[in-house]
Amino acid sequence: MQILHIPCLEDNYSYLIIDEATKEAAVVDPVEPHKILRVAEENGVHLKLVLTTHHHWDHAGGNDKMKQLLPDIEIFGGSVDNVQGCTNKVENGDRFSLGADISILSLHTPCHTKGHISYYVTAKEGDVPAVFTGDTLFVAGCGKFFEGTAEQMYQSLCTTLGSLPKPTQVYCGHERMREYPKNYCGPSRREGLVFLQFHQLSRKNSRLTPSCVLI
Ligand SMILES: [Zn+2]
Repeated sequence: MQILHIPCLEDNYSYLIIDEATKEAAVVDPVEPHKILRVAEENGVHLKLVLTTHHHWDHAGGNDKMKQLLPDIEIFGGSVDNVQGCTNKVENGDRFSLGADISILSLHTPCHTKGHISYYVTAKEGDVPAVFTGDTLFVAGCGKFFEGTAEQMYQSLCTTLGSLPKPTQVYCGHERMREYPKNYCGPSRREGLVFLQFHQLSRKNSRLTPSCVLI
């Protein structure tokens, strides 16, 4: 399994998930379709699936255009999230495959939106699993509670995503690492300093995803 970052808009990420055996690919949140197709072409892959994390325009807003450009593509999204162009509605626990080796599990992670889906992706033995968390889990932060409660976000973060096997690489929907540590208000000054150091480090690097599930 190969995963490519595709920065979009101001700080969004789309991702290509590539099955190396067949060169088939899925794209997560393809908000800039022409950019996605260009990267797919450069890498010689065939786009088969769109994995939509949630209905917000900066994630789902390219779906209709993707369908127009690639009529056979299947567009996945949460069953209660009203995702643009959705052809395959998914529930928590639904599984489907990509190419020869990739398996994708839908995880309902509500609160940012009520039907938000994270996609847990596994491949051959030896490939580290990955989870695409959209606007539920960021690196050192989480999405806004637009359509849910704190209890739901806790469940999404600490139970659903927190129970994934370790290590699992986390690919989130935005590069927010530069702003979260500034707002850090954790339990101890020491943790705050660690965050601050990480923040300063982050200013030197262009990208901080993937991160990983540790607890
Ligand atoms: Zn969002």
